[in-house]
Amino acid sequence: MFGRAPKKSDNTKYYEILGVSNSASQDDLKKAYRKAAIKNHPDKGGDPEKFKELAQAYEVLSDPEKREIYDQYGEDALKEGMGGGGGGHDPFDIFQSFFGGNPFGGGGSSRGRRQRRGEDVVHPLKVSLEDLYNGTSKKLSLSRNAICSKCKGKGSKSGASMKCSGCQGSGIKVSIRHLGPSMIQQMQHACNECKGTGETINDKDRCPQCKGEKVVQEKKVLEVIVEKGMQNGQKITFPGEADEAPDTVTGDIVFVLQQKEHPKFKRKGDDLFVEHTLSLTEALCGFQFILMHLDGRQLLIKSEPGEVVKPDQYKGINDEGMPMYQRSFMKGKLYIHFAVEFPDTLSPEQCKTLEAVLPPRSSVQLTDMELDECEETTLHDVNLEEEMRRKQAQAQEAYDEDEDMPGGAQRVQCAQQ
Ligand SMILES: [Zn+2]
Ligand SMILES: [Zn+2]
Repeated sequence: MFGRAPKKSDNTKYYEILGVSNSASQDDLKKAYRKAAIKNHPDKGGDPEKFKELAQAYEVLSDPEKREIYDQYGEDALKEGMGGGGGGHDPFDIFQSFFGGNPFGGGGSSRGRRQRRGEDVVHPLKVSLEDLYNGTSKKLSLSRNAICSKCKGKGSKSGASMKCSGCQGSGIKVSIRHLGPSMIQQMQHACNECKGTGETINDKDRCPQCKGEKVVQEKKVLEVIVEKGMQNGQKITFPGEADEAPDTVTGDIVFVLQQKEHPKFKRKGDDLFVEHTLSLTEALCGFQFILMHLDGRQLLIKSEPGEVVKPDQYKGINDEGMPMYQRSFMKGKLYIHFAVEFPDTLSPEQCKTLEAVLPPRSSVQLTDMELDECEETTLHDVNLEEEMRRKQAQAQEAYDEDEDMPGGAQRVQCAQQ
C-alpha cells in the first residue's frame, strides 16, 4: 500500500517512495521496488527523477546496515558517510543488477526460480573397427538418480521443508583460513548439512522411499546404435537421460566412441590401409593372396601378369574402404602398402643364375691399377635409428655433467685443445 501517513521525519521518505511500511521485510521491499521500477523506467516513458529516487531508496533499505542507520538517524546520516555513502550508485546499475539481462521480457519468473541445468554424463564406448564398418547396437545398463516417485522430489511426506540452519537456507557456507598474521582467505563451499540445497526435512516427515534424498537410484538400459561409418571420438547423445534432480533440467548421457586398434586395418577418414609383405619372388614374378575384409568377405588380391611391385609401393582398391557416415552406400578406398622381403644372402651360383636374367650390373669394372690406388674398407651392418638414439643420449649426458660440475665447461675446452 502506498503510505498515506503524514511525513514525520526524514527517516520515512524512502519507505514512502517505495510505498511500504517501515516494518517491511526484504521480500516486501523487493516486490515494491520491482513493481515501481518497471512502471517508472525511463525506457518505458517513466519519470527519470522518480526512477532515480526508487533506486536510491531501494539501495539503502535493501542493505540491513544502511537501513538501520537510516531508521535511526535519517537520510542525512547516510549522506555524511556513516553507511559508506548513500545513493551514490547509478540507478540503472541497481535496476540491472536486480533484474538481470531482460527486465521487460515475458515469463515474469524471478531470478531465483530459473531452473538449473544438470550436468551431462559422458561415457567412453569402446568399439571395434568391424563395429564401425558394419554398424551395431549395444545395450548398456546404467544406474542414475531419478526423482523419487513417491514424494515427487519433495523429500517429505507433507511436501514441506525447512530452511537449513547450517547455512540459513543459502546452501553455501563460508570458511575463513588464516594464511598469515594479516592475511585471511575466504572460501565458499556447499553446505554439508543440506548438501547445498538450503533446506532440511524433519526426520518424521521424511519420505520413506527416498529417505528425504528426493531422488532414488534407478537402473536403466540404453540401446546405443552405432551407425555404419561413425568415427572414433564421435558422440552419441541421449538427451535428458542423465541424473535427475529437483528443479533441474536433466542433462544428457553422452557416449563417446573409442575405436580399438585393429590388428590388420588402419583407418584414415573414409579410407582403410593394410600392410602386406611380399617375398622378393612375389614382388618380381607376381603374387596373389586372400584378404579377409571387416565384414567377413574374402577379397582376392593379385598382381597383373608381368607386373613388378617395388618396396614401399601403394596400391588402391576403389569402394573397399569405410562406408561413409549416413551415406553408407558410398565407401572410401582400400590402400595396400607393400613391403618386400629380400633374401639375406645368395650363393655365387644363385648370383650367376640371376645375372643371366636380370638387367646387367651398372657399376663399371675397375682396373688393377685403379684398385691399387684405393684403400680397402669394410661395410658394417648398422641400425641407424639405434645409433642416433645412443649418440643423442651421450650428448645429453655430457651436457648434464657440465651443468652439475663447476668448471665443467672449461675442462671440456681444455680436453679439446
Ligand atoms: Zn521420496
Ligand atoms: Zn545448509
